[in-house]
Amino acid sequence: MLGGVEAGGTKFVLAVGPSPGRITARHTIATRDPATTLAEAAEWLAGHGALAAIGIGSFGPVELDRTAPRWGFITTTPKPGWANCDIAGYLGGELGAPVGFDTDVNGAALAEHAASGAIGGSLAYLTIGTGIGGGLVLDGQPVHGIAHPEVGHIFPRRHPQDREFAGICPHHGDCLEGLASGPAILARWGASLSQLPADHPGHAIIADYIAQACHTLFASVAVEEIVIGGGVAQTAGLVEQVAARARALDAGYLPGSARHRIIRPRLGGDSGIVGAMMLAEAAAKA
Ligand code: ZN
Repeated sequence: MLGGVEAGGTKFVLAVGPSPGRITARHTIATRDPATTLAEAAEWLAGHGALAAIGIGSFGPVELDRTAPRWGFITTTPKPGWANCDIAGYLGGELGAPVGFDTDVNGAALAEHAASGAIGGSLAYLTIGTGIGGGLVLDGQPVHGIAHPEVGHIFPRRHPQDREFAGICPHHGDCLEGLASGPAILARWGASLSQLPADHPGHAIIADYIAQACHTLFASVAVEEIVIGGGVAQTAGLVEQVAARARALDAGYLPGSARHRIIRPRLGGDSGIVGAMMLAEAAAKA
């Protein structure tokens, strides 16, 4: 049996099963302080017998370098209590199992890549919600670089109808997350995107920013497919609007553009937990 943990800032999704494609039990708990949350997660997982490995896809920033002293830690998060949290060490120790560890979005990207049939080999997963994050699978492998991608913090060109809003990222102001995350939409227009009328300019403005991020990913890392999940992406028509805008921005230039796809998750809301199970499967084989 494998165990999976999708560690999010508001909830933890837990799962067990013999393979990523066969989750036999799952459970969701609220994210509170680390001690309470991780103890509850370990207790639920331990209740399903011995696990061959566990996989954790975590909110970050996280340390992914296996040779670093703080491998498996959530590192510098502003989330109260969670900075310098040894999430992989704690859960691996409590459960006596090897741990596969990556970002939540790299896990989701792995799961969507597998669900796509892995035909193209390269995919990005973007989550547009409370924050904005991006995971990358290139040639079948999750991308870490010297840390991990932070796609939410790239700088888009300002939309002509969005000159006044300063953005809400505490580090950068008007980075992508500062302009297009759920809290940025709420701060600007006092409502979520799905609550705004269909003719509100917010829809085109947010679609434009996300489309710029997609264009950057197509142009810089040459992914074939971009999967967009997260709460804001549930807004009716948004992903389709992003896809159309990205095509318009590219103007047919990029090589491979005929194969570019911007889609909703094939796995619906399960990309993250299935990805965590895939991390467990890889750790069990390592
Ligand atoms: Zn930022």
